[in-house]
Amino acid sequence: MSDCLFCKMVSGEIDVPKVYEDDDLIAINDINPQAPFHILIFPQKHISTLNNIGEADQQVVGRVFLTAKQIAVEKEFDQSGYRVVANCLEAAGQTVFHIHFHLLGGRQMSWPPG
Ligand code: 5GP
Ligand code: ZN
Repeated sequence: MSDCLFCKMVSGEIDVPKVYEDDDLIAINDINPQAPFHILIFPQKHISTLNNIGEADQQVVGRVFLTAKQIAVEKEFDQSGYRVVANCLEAAGQTVFHIHFHLLGGRQMSWPPG
């Protein structure tokens, strides 16, 4: 997707420091952090919303959570606790239409989210 922000980060057209990268996933620091740790984990493959994931994506989506845990361990907020959340479409506040999972940690969080 030529006009997709996260695809441009995948291709290198937009240079962004990576927290983590492998053949399937990228993780970056959020530009507008909502917690001391706020990392976005997304597949290299363009998928616009959670409504568009399919059977073929289940391995990469599952690996998002393993990657989230691994980053939490590395940054030492795994034991204090953290949140992994994905927003789907407008009512949930999705603003970038390439699926991504927010990994938030380093502070006390409340529930329910706003
Ligand atoms: P959403 O609102 O779609 O769930 O999350 C999109 C996230 O992407 C937001 O938290 C926003 O701060 C982040 N974001 C938007 N543009 C950029 C950017 O250019 N660089 C980075 N690192 N994060 C971005
Ligand atoms: Zn994309």
